Amino acid sequence: MREDIRNFNQEELLKKFKGLQFESYRARQVLEWLYKRDVDDFAMMSNLPRELKEKLGLYFCIEKLAVEEIKTSRDMTQKFLFRLKDNTLIESVSIPLKARLTACLSTQVGCKFSCTFCASGSMGFKRNLEACEIIAQFLAIKKNVPLHKVNNVVFMGIGEPLDNYENCLRAIRILNDPGCANLGIRKMTISTAGFAPAIERLAKEGLQIELSVSLHAATDEKRSELLPINNRFPLKPLFKAVETYMALTKRKVTFEYILLGGFNSSVEDAQSLIRLVRGLNVRINLIPYNPGPARGRYFSPTKLEVLFFKNYLAQKGIDVFLRMPRGVDIAAACGQLKYHVLRKEKQNREA
Ligand code: SAH
Repeated sequence: MREDIRNFNQEELLKKFKGLQFESYRARQVLEWLYKRDVDDFAMMSNLPRELKEKLGLYFCIEKLAVEEIKTSRDMTQKFLFRLKDNTLIESVSIPLKARLTACLSTQVGCKFSCTFCASGSMGFKRNLEACEIIAQFLAIKKNVPLHKVNNVVFMGIGEPLDNYENCLRAIRILNDPGCANLGIRKMTISTAGFAPAIERLAKEGLQIELSVSLHAATDEKRSELLPINNRFPLKPLFKAVETYMALTKRKVTFEYILLGGFNSSVEDAQSLIRLVRGLNVRINLIPYNPGPARGRYFSPTKLEVLFFKNYLAQKGIDVFLRMPRGVDIAAACGQLKYHVLRKEKQNREA
């Protein structure tokens, strides 16, 4: 069976080429076309001899992501809906900030974790993405913005990266490989719903990847209501894993805290959060809730609630940052565009 060539790092591809008796510098040329020149077709790799291009096509493939829809926000955030070879859908988001750009990538088709505020969980889980499908999203975004440098990757699209551990780590190592995308390891962020044992495992990889934990509530009672995974790994084992991560990687961990109006934004909530993180070298990222299509259950916080919460934490010496939601007008939060499109398809089928 032909394997997608983007599943290999430079060293592995050199070995494969050696086995096939292709000259090793040809592997470097192919990688340069893929990662530096945005070419995803062997036939277009003009410095390769025709015979080699044909042979490459026999042993390898470069699966294309079919663009189902692109939405551009007023703030220039772009959301891509891609259709994969098995007809399933994933989303990626490109978030420009001056000359830099962050690519937000999906790691699974759907999600098993059913967080109650998140559109992705409501659509069920289909399968893990392969490393090449994660990398293909990065390359598609890069190709789409030739004037920008994609210098940050966040695994905050659809899915739980630590539930697709092997493929995500493979994708991260290939993106990081100087012979491939050459993206700094500290420029990549894994976001997790709190898969404690996988955080412990990640801590031992010898990688200094940024870790973001979706905390969203500071007591087990409230957190379990939002994130069912908290029943399996409550705050105590989660914090133990985070402390291991910080100790072994020497990296500061970020806690994401979605502010849900009237749910987790009171002075008592702020006090619980302070008690939880006091003394730890962590950062809190506050994100006002993006209501999207799952309306009714939760609400966006008021401006006053947001400012009060942020200032309260800051005054108590907590490293807190307010992240304004990007792409609200294009349903850019996790799973929201896919949710819209699937719902439209269902309505069309029923009509
Ligand atoms: N499964 C991983 C990564 C995917 S979600 C995780 O849970 O971290 C990426 C981030 O978007 C998470 O912090 C998630 O809680 C948040 N998110 C999901 N839906 C949201 C919404 N409607 N508004 C704001 N943030 C949302």
